[in-house]
Amino acid sequence: MKIDKAAIQEAVSTAHRDHSGDDGGKNASYIPYLASVDPSLFGVAVVTADGDVFEAGDARFEFALESISKIFSMALAMEDAGLNDFHDKVGADPTGDPFNSVVSVVLHGDSPVSPLVNAGAMATVSLIRADGAEQRWDKILAAQGAFAGRRNALSDVVNDSEQSTNFHNRAIAWLLYSGGTMYSDPMEACDVYTRQCSTLVTTVDLATMGATIAARGINPLTRERVISNPALVPPMLAEMTMEGLYTASGDWAYRVGLPGKSGVGGGMLAVMPGVLAIAAFSPPLDPVGNSVRGRKAVAQIAEALNLNLYNARDYSE
Ligand code: GLU
Repeated sequence: MKIDKAAIQEAVSTAHRDHSGDDGGKNASYIPYLASVDPSLFGVAVVTADGDVFEAGDARFEFALESISKIFSMALAMEDAGLNDFHDKVGADPTGDPFNSVVSVVLHGDSPVSPLVNAGAMATVSLIRADGAEQRWDKILAAQGAFAGRRNALSDVVNDSEQSTNFHNRAIAWLLYSGGTMYSDPMEACDVYTRQCSTLVTTVDLATMGATIAARGINPLTRERVISNPALVPPMLAEMTMEGLYTASGDWAYRVGLPGKSGVGGGMLAVMPGVLAIAAFSPPLDPVGNSVRGRKAVAQIAEALNLNLYNARDYSE
C-alpha cells in the first residue's frame, strides 16, 4: 500500500498546527526530571517502511523514551527465551489496571500478565540472556539504537532522577521474585529497566523505530535487519494493541485501530504494519499517562491517511 508523499506531509503539518494550541494535561511529576520539561514542546513525525521521513515542530528534540522502551526489550527477550516461553513467563493479556499497579500483580499470583506494564517489563528484562547487568544493558541500548538507526544514549539526569525515586518499581520486582516470575536478580532487573526508560530519542527516531517494526524488522533508513526473526513482529504489535496506551488501549483500538505505545515522557507511537509509523512527542499527559497532544495528533494523521488495521475493505483495493 503506497500513500502519496504530499498527503503524508500535509497530514503531519496539519496535525501539528491543529494541536499546538491544546493546553490540556500535565507533565508526569512522579519522576522529578519529567516535571521540568517544557510543556509547550510538540513534535510530530512519520517514517514509512520505505524510509521516507516527514516531520513538523520539535521533532528533533530529545526526550525520555520511558515506557515505549518496553516493546524493544520485548523483542530481545522473545528472541532469547523463544516465543512460547516468553508468553508462558510474562503473559500477553491486557491488565485493565494502571501501568504500575501492585494490585494487578498480587491478583495474578505475583505474576506480571503483560510485557507492557512495569511488572512485565522488568520480567522481560530479566529474560534477556546476559552475564549480569552490564551485558544486559548493552544489549538493550544497542537494540534501541538499531531500531532508531542512530546510536541513542542514556541520559544521566533522567536516570538519576528515576533511580532515586523508583521505590514502587522495586517493590513490584520483589513481588515478582516471590512469585517465581523474575528470572534474574530483581534489583538488577529493576535497575536495567529504569535505565532503558531513561534513554533519549527524538520524535523522528521514534517514528523510525516504529517503521522498523512496520517493515518486519528491517530498519528502513539503515537497511539493517534489527529483528532477527520476523515472526516476533506480530506479537509485538498484538501487545501494543492490548496494553500500549495504558487503560485507554481499548478506547484507542476502538477509535483508531492501530497498534500504539506511549510513555510518560510524552512520546507516542502508532504502527501500520507494512506501511509506516506515526510518532509524536509532547510532555503534558492525560490522567492515564498518554500525551494529550501526541494522542490527538497521531489519531488525526491515521484518520487523514485512512489507516486502520481493522478496515480490511480499504486495503483490498
Ligand atoms: N520509568 C517509568 C516507570 O517505570 C516509565 C513509565 C511509563 O512510561 O509508563 O514508571
